[in-house]
Amino acid sequence: MGEPKVAMPETGERITFVNGEIRVPHHPIIPFIEGDGIGPDIWRAARRVLDAAVEKAYEGGRSIAWGEIFAGESAKNKFGEWLPEGTTQAISDFSVAIKGPLTTPIGGGIRSLNVTLRQILDLYACVRPCRYIQGVPSPVKEAHKLNVVIFRENTEDVYAGIEWKQGTAEAKEIIHFLNSRFSTRLREDSGIGVKPISIFGTQRLVRKAIRYALDHRRTRVTLVHKGNIMKFTEGAFRDWGYQVSRDEFGEVCINEDELWQTYDGKIPEGKILINDRIADSMFQQVLLRPDEYEVIALPNLNGDYLSDACAAQIGGLGMAPGANIGDRVALFESTHGTAPKYAGQDKVNPGSLILSGVLMLEHLGWQEAADLIYSAVGKTISQKRVTYDLGRQMEGATVVKTSEFASAIIENMTTDHRPQTADQ
Ligand code: NAP
Repeated sequence: MGEPKVAMPETGERITFVNGEIRVPHHPIIPFIEGDGIGPDIWRAARRVLDAAVEKAYEGGRSIAWGEIFAGESAKNKFGEWLPEGTTQAISDFSVAIKGPLTTPIGGGIRSLNVTLRQILDLYACVRPCRYIQGVPSPVKEAHKLNVVIFRENTEDVYAGIEWKQGTAEAKEIIHFLNSRFSTRLREDSGIGVKPISIFGTQRLVRKAIRYALDHRRTRVTLVHKGNIMKFTEGAFRDWGYQVSRDEFGEVCINEDELWQTYDGKIPEGKILINDRIADSMFQQVLLRPDEYEVIALPNLNGDYLSDACAAQIGGLGMAPGANIGDRVALFESTHGTAPKYAGQDKVNPGSLILSGVLMLEHLGWQEAADLIYSAVGKTISQKRVTYDLGRQMEGATVVKTSEFASAIIENMTTDHRPQTADQ
């Protein structure tokens, strides 16, 4: 158990848990990783916005005691390591943290710092809300109809890292074993990957998605899979997902048969519809009938694809927030990379990290501060004061710097208007 390589602030308290329920003090200590490349630019902007919203919402009664921790290039430069043990320890100790993007080291044995963080901290759900903010340029005609929260399983599937390169002794041995023992007809010159999907991994993910739907008054949870082809992994994901809904949420969950046979196609007050869709059809559904979906639970690979496809509909990764959440620890993060060519230019869009901060505030139960930011981002975009990436797609935009976008959001924080979303 390593000590954090940086000291956490002395003013501030730890977030705790009682019977699995989060308890947030008025001045919680929250570790942050600035991130590499554009990380410092967007973090500075996001931090100002988060602090201003908390100050405005609670008039000094609450505040965040930020504590810097290091990963990526900054950690490598400071400590000679890409991911010091103290960093993961601090995130685990303080339960909630936020980070900018990290460079993926080339060589050196670490595949991706983000994947490593998820694995070490067992952050098994990648949560990506995709909700349109009025005025954001979108490639689709009715972007406001998409308002989904994606729960992507984060630890299993073909991402488990079980692979053997073509031509290695291991690959040959596996091929020989399968062909001789199970009469498969794998070509001798194949590379091999393994796709594990377990009852445990599936059920904790689907359980989290259903709980989220209950807590946020969402009425539909859709299991997305390719079970028609991969019956014992993706098909099993669907079956085990339905099983959780029946065994643990039987009082509130109904399936599509019950919806039509008993409730005439209308989800009754207080109930949640659990249905499922084949993955390829789901990519059509989010384009053709987006308003029929709310919470979506998927295995890792499908989730990776669908979350980027949905993010594209609401304005791209620059506007899409994300979080990786386990049973106790939650790590909020921007969804794009480090965009190194823009590093230090005060130019890029801090929207993804700011909206990830909004998710974090919601996770803390600080909804008033979260709403303030969400509204102010909407108002700023409706004023067409945007960074270059959105500006180049909008008529008559005033292109502002990263820091100016943050200042505009802070200026627009008022308690007298609501978010400009499709819900209005
Ligand atoms: P990237 O950093 O996401 O950048 C690709 C392009 O996306 C940029 O050139 C820019 O497009 C646009 N972009 C990204 N963030 C933006 C922002 N905040 N505002 C406006 N535009 C933005 O992808 P990459 O170049 O493939 O990856 C660079 C590094 O980041 C790699 O080391 C990669 O491994 C890492 N990465 C980290 C994470 C993470 O930490 N979560 C995620 C993905 C990648 P234009 O050039 O068109 O303006």
